[in-house]
Amino acid sequence: MSGAIVIGAGHNGLVAGLSLARAGRAVTIVEKRGVVGGLCAATEIHPGYRVPGLLHDTTGVRRPVVAALGLSRYGLQFEDEAPSVLAAHSQHKGVVLHANAARSRDELEALHKGDGDGYAAWRAFLSRVRGFVARVLNERPPQMKPSSLAELWKLGVTGLALRRLGNADMLELLRVAPMCAADWLHEYFNDPLPSAALAAPAVTGAFLGPWAAGSAASVLLYECVRGAEVKGGPAALIESLREAFEAAGGTIRLEAEVARILVARGAVSGVQLADGSTLEAPLVLATCDPKRALLELLEPGALPLRVEEQIGVVRMRGTTAKVNLALDGQLAFRGREGERHARAVVADDVDDIERAFDAVKYRGCSKKPHLDVSVPSVRDASLAPSGKDVVSILAHFVPHDLEGGWSDAAREGFGDAVVEVLESVAPGTKGLIRAREVLGPADIEARYGLSGGHIHHGEHALDQLLFMRPTPALARYATPIAGLYLGGSGSHPSGGVTCQPGALAAQAILEG
Ligand SMILES: Cc1cc2nc3c(=O)[nH]c(=O)nc-3n(C[C@H](O)[C@H](O)[C@H](O)COP(=O)(O)OP(=O)(O)OC[C@H]3O[C@@H](n4cnc5c(N)ncnc54)[C@H](O)[C@@H]3O)c2cc1C
Repeated sequence: MSGAIVIGAGHNGLVAGLSLARAGRAVTIVEKRGVVGGLCAATEIHPGYRVPGLLHDTTGVRRPVVAALGLSRYGLQFEDEAPSVLAAHSQHKGVVLHANAARSRDELEALHKGDGDGYAAWRAFLSRVRGFVARVLNERPPQMKPSSLAELWKLGVTGLALRRLGNADMLELLRVAPMCAADWLHEYFNDPLPSAALAAPAVTGAFLGPWAAGSAASVLLYECVRGAEVKGGPAALIESLREAFEAAGGTIRLEAEVARILVARGAVSGVQLADGSTLEAPLVLATCDPKRALLELLEPGALPLRVEEQIGVVRMRGTTAKVNLALDGQLAFRGREGERHARAVVADDVDDIERAFDAVKYRGCSKKPHLDVSVPSVRDASLAPSGKDVVSILAHFVPHDLEGGWSDAAREGFGDAVVEVLESVAPGTKGLIRAREVLGPADIEARYGLSGGHIHHGEHALDQLLFMRPTPALARYATPIAGLYLGGSGSHPSGGVTCQPGALAAQAILEG
């Protein structure tokens, strides 16, 4: 049985390792941390309060991958429907956006006449193009010069799928993708609030605001693959993957940091660990970020200079902070007392998000951050003491290279700004905070080893997505070193908890 080493026990490493183990490879996953799961690993932030992962949104997990791996046999389940999101507002009760537009109609029409229809039209367009977009995202990037009939056939089928959208939707898709999210969404809504809430995915993990050209593409890509949450969140996904991998005969070695990927005569030969020991294998799949894998773990000069240069310019400027709160009660949004909301987006309009972004261009933290709030204890009461909430917030924007450096005062100052914004939409929260954890991009880099503290292993931007991820030459998972592959979030289709890069990288290895 030929051996394979996977670097990283994040969800993509586990997916790839499982696929390879099921195909008969002897797989060892080496993970530098003491826990399995990478960014999906659950952590206790205060006695009795746990967040189910550094991240909170599992709506991008691909059902076809989960089905192909048979993860339901290992306990993985999805919620029944895509989650609703509260678009919270600082002056009124906001609006709840459901994936089923009809359920949001009354609230939207009350907000501004015509916005219920606008939301239905927006969702209808997404549902018509969803199949095509998901197809592009869930398949390996095509060979630009097809070397076989099968590849040529695949290209033809994708072209046909685009054509099948019909003239109107095909042209609309091509018109919208390069637009800015703000302009696109303003075409559907009169009130600024829904546009702000729906633009939010455009800025997560991107170095841009909603008025930047190309930001509409990120909204499109996010919405077209979004489904229901995983029951139990990221931690449940990891547990099922770990069990399935071990049942397939795979081995996980924790606290086993790879210091060097070993190469002999142009082919990979194994890895050297930080303790000096070596593991040999003719196949190594790296799921840490591509800069770390190719510029730090490989001997300089192992790659052709051009490839090194291309990887060197991949942009990975972290702009997201993670703020976790342990509350001595339940989070209650303005005008929504008695209601429970697991997700909320906080920005009164897209200009608030754009202004929040302005600060990072000049290496500053935004004074009025834009928040993506999750309350995991709404769905899983065991995460916090009875009657209390744990709150997980992605706060935008903060720079990795803060002017003057990241001191405790800078970190806590940003934490205060986050709490002020939350207080503006959920009055009374401040007084409930029992503990607070603030992680800026530099902390995320130090704790999780992400270059630049970038949450997606590389910015989501038009030139770093789809068939260009992480670079056009490396987009099909193989590298110029025989036997060395990439398969983490820095690869196609993108970052996020999706399982897709790991699955496609394994496919590239097994099918060639
Ligand atoms: C704060 C934050 C919030 C996020 N929120 C969301 C969200 O809500 N929804 C969403 O879909 N996505 C979110 N993301 C992005 C998402 O979490 C990632 O894209 C995804 O989890 C990455 O999975 P992965 O398996 O590719 O890599 P990782 O989870 O990063 O795993 C890589 C693993 O490699 C290990 N490793 C690195 N170097 C070495 C080495 N030298 N030797 C051995 N092991 C090594 C690391 O320790 C890590 O365990 C968020 C990310 C962050 C940081």
